[in-house]
Amino acid sequence: MTGETAKPARLVACPTCGAAAAYDPANPWRPFCSERCRSIDLGAWASESYRIPLREGDPDAPSPGEEGGPAGGPNTPGS
Ligand SMILES: [Zn+2]
Repeated sequence: MTGETAKPARLVACPTCGAAAAYDPANPWRPFCSERCRSIDLGAWASESYRIPLREGDPDAPSPGEEGGPAGGPNTPGS
């Protein structure tokens, strides 16, 4: 009996959120506190390199109010 089983995990500050994260083999996300924080950190440097634009308010997207169909369009044959 070594008495090492109750050894407290070393705590470090999570680089993403600053929360205490266990720097221990039991924590696969070390030195982050969670998978989410690890993903955020990886995504942060990735976005700085690639700058993936967010497609909010895409001008090419059809508006829900313009789905009425061609009623008397410019191509309507007259006479
Ligand atoms: Zn965190």
